[in-house]
Amino acid sequence: MAKKTCFERAIFFSWYCSIGDCKYCYMSTQQKPGNGNNGKIARRTTESLLAELILCKKLGWKIGFVSGGHNAYKTEDFRELLKKMKAISGEKFWVNIGPLTRTELLEFKPYTEGVVGSIETINPEIHDFVCPSKPVAPFEKMFVEAKKLGLKRAMTIILGLGETLDDYGILSKFIRKHSITKIHFYGLNPQKGTIFEGSKPPTAGYQAEWIRKTRKEFPKMDIQCGIWLDRPGYVSVLLKAGADSISKFPALKRFGSKEAKMIETEAKKAGRKFMGTLTKMPSIDVDKEIKKLKFDDELKGMIKVKLEGYIRMMQR
Ligand code: SF4
Repeated sequence: MAKKTCFERAIFFSWYCSIGDCKYCYMSTQQKPGNGNNGKIARRTTESLLAELILCKKLGWKIGFVSGGHNAYKTEDFRELLKKMKAISGEKFWVNIGPLTRTELLEFKPYTEGVVGSIETINPEIHDFVCPSKPVAPFEKMFVEAKKLGLKRAMTIILGLGETLDDYGILSKFIRKHSITKIHFYGLNPQKGTIFEGSKPPTAGYQAEWIRKTRKEFPKMDIQCGIWLDRPGYVSVLLKAGADSISKFPALKRFGSKEAKMIETEAKKAGRKFMGTLTKMPSIDVDKEIKKLKFDDELKGMIKVKLEGYIRMMQR
C-alpha cells in the first residue's frame, strides 16, 4: 500500500506582531515593530476562522498549527477561540503563538495537542542577528513546562538564513534535549524591503538534505515541509527525503490552480497517496454544516456567510 501524504494548513488569526523585527519577516518592513497595521491589532474574525476550519475538514486538510502574531489575543480570548475550534474539528491543536508561560499552557491545555517553538534558525550567531527580539531561551522554558504538563513539542526552521548543513548537529542536540516530535522545515521566502530581498531561496536539494538527515536520525519524527507558490516542483524531492506532509502553499487562494495540481502530481511521483484534495471541490451542503454547529444562531449565521464566501472564492 502506498505511503500517504497530505496538506497541512496553518490557521493564522492575525497580522499583528508585537516583536516585528525578525530580519526575514514582512513585519520588519513596516514602520515600527509590531506596527504592521499602524499599531492596530488586525485580527481575523472568529467566524472567518471557524469557516476556514470547516472547509479544511471537508477538503481533507490537517491543521498544522494555529498561529498569529505574538500578543494578538488576551489569554482568555484565545482559550475561547481554541474551544470553539475544537468544537468543530473534534481535535486538539498545535499552538504556535510565541513562548507561553505555565499558566497559559494550563489554560490552553484542554484544546492543545502541543506547542510549537518558532526557533527559525538553529545557528546561535545567525539567530541573534536575524531574530534580535525573539530569543530561543523563552521557547526552551516553554518546552520544559510543556513536557511537565504532558504537551507535545514541535519547532519551526527556516532554511536559507545563512546556516549550513554543518549546523545539523546543533539541531540534533536541540531535538533530543526537548524531545521534539514534530518539525517544520521551511525555505526562506525573500521579502521585499528586508535584507534578504534578492536572495536566492534554498534549493530543493538543500531543503531535502535537512529532511533526510532528520528522518535518518529520528525515524518517528513528524516532518512537515513548507513550500511556497514558486516551489510546487520541490514536493517529490522533499517527500522522497522523508517529509510526511506539505504546508505553506496558499491552498485556498490557489485551489485548483496549476501549482496545486503539480503538488498532487509530485506526491504521486514520490510514490505517495495524497489524502484530501487541493484541486477538486467537494460538494458542501452549507446549511447542513451550519446546522451541526453548537453555537448561538448569530455566530452560526456569520459563519455561514463566511463559508459561502470562501466557497465562491475557491470556485472562481
Ligand atoms: S515574531 Fe514572527 S511575525 Fe513577528 S517579526 Fe518575527 S517572524 Fe515576523
